[in-house]
Amino acid sequence: MSAHAQQLSRLQSVDLNAAYLIQDPDQKIISATLVILSGEMDNPYAQGLAHYLEHLAWLNTLDKVSPDYDRESNAWANKFVTGYWLAGPIEKLPVNLMQLFKVFDPLHGDPAFMADERKIILREYDFRMGENIWKDVDTDIRTALFGDHPLARSVIGTPQDIAEFPLSDARALHRQTHRPLNAVLLIYGDISPDQAQSILDTVKIPQNTTAKPAPRQFSFGSDLRDVKHVDLPLSPTQTLIYHKLVALPDTVPFDALRARLKLLYRVLDSTYESGLGGPLRFDDFIARHFEISLGSLVPKHLFMTFKANPDEGISLQTLLDSFETNMAQIAKNGISAETFATVKSLYIANLREQQRPARGVKALAMESIASREIPQTREQRLQSLRNVSLADLDALLKHLTGNGRTVIRLIN
Ligand SMILES: [Zn+2]
Repeated sequence: MSAHAQQLSRLQSVDLNAAYLIQDPDQKIISATLVILSGEMDNPYAQGLAHYLEHLAWLNTLDKVSPDYDRESNAWANKFVTGYWLAGPIEKLPVNLMQLFKVFDPLHGDPAFMADERKIILREYDFRMGENIWKDVDTDIRTALFGDHPLARSVIGTPQDIAEFPLSDARALHRQTHRPLNAVLLIYGDISPDQAQSILDTVKIPQNTTAKPAPRQFSFGSDLRDVKHVDLPLSPTQTLIYHKLVALPDTVPFDALRARLKLLYRVLDSTYESGLGGPLRFDDFIARHFEISLGSLVPKHLFMTFKANPDEGISLQTLLDSFETNMAQIAKNGISAETFATVKSLYIANLREQQRPARGVKALAMESIASREIPQTREQRLQSLRNVSLADLDALLKHLTGNGRTVIRLIN
């Protein structure tokens, strides 16, 4: 395969929502990832049940595997999707796909064994949350920011709920979500499209004819500014946490919006003119450290997270004021044309020089699939980035600094 060949191709499957191959000649172990396009957001039952279901559906795939076959595998659930993957040498791909598609079968584990899985999740809860001093702050922010929207839901759930997850609810959620037409397959590794297609064609996909429930309609609620001081004696440092959710006036195609957000992030995170690094860190010594992240929620919401620790002798309030003043100033003046040109050309050059471009294509494909969008090829991604104009970023920054739902926690 030449360096410029398409790494991403679409495979034909009438049973699945979609199937893709990402070819990577340096990846001899072939992975197959099945992504169910439903996660905790789509779970109408107790919080955390989507994750319990992931454990139970995974049990479906573990039977009848020959004991001499040492495969790599994992499963996960988040708010948006539930995923399962298996990896092995190419000759194991047919059997791996067959195993993977067993997540569509009705949950058929031993009921006692399935009930016991709740104890495993309780241990997982202790492992993930037991020592997490930010647990209550995170829950508070999520609830304040998302209100009644299902994004406020917890993926892990509470120990009380976990201990009593009803198997009947898990079965009902399985029927509603684990349907081939609600699933996307992604094969990754050193295999040609023809080979992958012919293997996929030989593997039978169990049919599940349950009608998909109509999507539930939610909104994020009206604009809000919710500021709270929180005492967290265990926290080693003072911290400002700033979340903002903004609705765009019109929908922007997912790939175009993602390209704009990646470039805007690089501008704001920089020490160039129009970046926050200068005013917050190196010129005025306001923040000892900061992290900013930007993202989108289909079809037309943006979110921004800013986390920072004040520098010596700076109060959390001063840090907050400085962040908001600087953001408003950059938005008002417009982003420096020079900074924009530098950031854009560096980012595109870095992408072009990537050693393993297929890996980048894969990471981006997983993002797209989780947003129910079609993955981009590398060329499409580069084109989306080239298409971004300075005016696009200025408009985006104006929205981000305008009205929205803002949740701020000053943590002592
Ligand atoms: Zn788990």
